[in-house]
Amino acid sequence: MSNNGIKTDVILIGAGVMSATLGSLLKELAPAWEIKVFEKLKSAGEESSNEWNNAGTGHAALCELNYTNEKPDGSIDISKAVKVNEQFQLSRQFWSYLVKSNLIRHPQDFIMPIPHISLVEGEENVTFLKKRMEALSNNPLFAGMEFSTDPQKLKEWIPLIMEGRTSDEPMAATKIDAGTDVNFGALTRMLFNYLKSQNVEMHYQHSVKDIKRTNEGLWEVKVHNLNSGQIEYHQAKFVFIGGGGGSLPLLQKTGIPESRQIGGFPVSGLFMVCNNPEVIARHHAKVYGKAKVGAPPMSVPHLDTRYIDNKKSLLFGPFAGFSPKFLKTGSNFDLLNSVKPNNVLTMLAAGLKEMSLTKYLIQQVLLSNEKRMEELREFIPNAKSEDWDIVVAGQRVQVIKDTETGGKGTLQFGTEVVSAADGSIAALLGASPGASTAVHVMLEVLEKCFPQYMSEWEAKIKEMIPSYGISLVENPALFQELHASTADTLGLSEKEPVCS
Ligand SMILES: Cc1cc2nc3c(=O)[nH]c(=O)nc-3n(C[C@H](O)[C@H](O)[C@H](O)COP(=O)(O)OP(=O)(O)OC[C@H]3O[C@@H](n4cnc5c(N)ncnc54)[C@H](O)[C@@H]3O)c2cc1C
Repeated sequence: MSNNGIKTDVILIGAGVMSATLGSLLKELAPAWEIKVFEKLKSAGEESSNEWNNAGTGHAALCELNYTNEKPDGSIDISKAVKVNEQFQLSRQFWSYLVKSNLIRHPQDFIMPIPHISLVEGEENVTFLKKRMEALSNNPLFAGMEFSTDPQKLKEWIPLIMEGRTSDEPMAATKIDAGTDVNFGALTRMLFNYLKSQNVEMHYQHSVKDIKRTNEGLWEVKVHNLNSGQIEYHQAKFVFIGGGGGSLPLLQKTGIPESRQIGGFPVSGLFMVCNNPEVIARHHAKVYGKAKVGAPPMSVPHLDTRYIDNKKSLLFGPFAGFSPKFLKTGSNFDLLNSVKPNNVLTMLAAGLKEMSLTKYLIQQVLLSNEKRMEELREFIPNAKSEDWDIVVAGQRVQVIKDTETGGKGTLQFGTEVVSAADGSIAALLGASPGASTAVHVMLEVLEKCFPQYMSEWEAKIKEMIPSYGISLVENPALFQELHASTADTLGLSEKEPVCS
């Protein structure tokens, strides 16, 4: 029972990029609403949104081959790539609005231009990449993409990767200069700094333990204040569960019918980080390969130039693995505790269906450092073990649910907004395409939870995100105009950014 039940309009649980984005949208749309944020860690952006816990790719499907599947007739389906690209444009526009309005500053601290390259080896894969290029080449969203099988050209684009290569296998790559590296940790911190300046109450080291409906129809959140050891109760008209991997257990506590028959499948990650400045300096791109047979889409290997703390870095991975934790800072009992009477059959069905994936992930966890180096050498043949360290990445909890097409216990690789029928509470589950599409996903939260305000808010949303509700692929002139103006505001026009 509540001992104080302090009331507010909105509670955001978790200080990751999703809560930061929703809070920032709401502050612009409903400035008078009171917002409180509860985060169990000491600061914002410390879990998946942290720059060292994710790959920092501004996912616009420019280089990720898993968004363009080959159909049985051999043609390439680009619909997913177009969708992801359109969603990323919404993020660019909102970030650009925030910068132009001086709500956040120094965009170079969170977004940098970097070529996005897809690289494949072997006859079959070269044919696939060529067909993919042809399918995308007439699409305005992918304008400027180049294709090459010429070893000389490839050496120019990716010298580090081409050096020391002895295989006779044909290789091909596509390159597009409009790609980005996004420091989602820095962005999250900037957004929360801005929100704090707008009187949003930030409560760090406050762990949410329970969420219950009150008799008045509000939501009461039970919070453990980790500083004082006290239990607090806070009530709100609307609650967003943005706990990343920690969202599923909190959603289950709400008891809403929409939370039933849903489970979570945690996937851990490791990156290799280059510690040799000479090697780092010789690579300038995000290079994505093709997933190995049996590997999940989120484990596609890539070699990424990153900009972290104003410094160029080089990361390889992620190596996906299995861990029962739902958060990097979570508990080994997270997976077990998430099994409830209402989802046990769904979870068992998924367990049986995904045996080979689980086996693959466990094998990945058991890889020795030398085996990881062997995988890296498929990208950089001359890579030396002493130049590379290991960092533990964030956890991704993939959604398991019953679907019409996949049947009971189907593993989902996208993100899902789960909300109560009356729109009073919503949770974000899943992690892909992830932070890049935060604006699109949070607009979905607004549409689902605040339908009564959408016509009132529409003009402001369009001021912040001009292509909201408009297909850019069908309006190439608008795409070009917005792409150019956001590139300008976000400092993405320069080909080679100036950075240490
Ligand atoms: C290895 C890896 C690579 C990735 N690469 C990319 C990429 O290249 N591009 C991309 O766009 N996305 C990528 N992602 C996905 C992206 O990182 C996530 O989608 C995004 O960061 C999720 O943000 P979030 O706010 O939902 O969660 P988080 O950033 O995890 O934040 C959730 C917060 O909630 C807090 N919390 C949890 N439970 C509670 C509780 N009970 N009480 C209080 N606080 C709580 C946590 O401490 C945490 O701070 C990647 C993810 C991983 C793991």
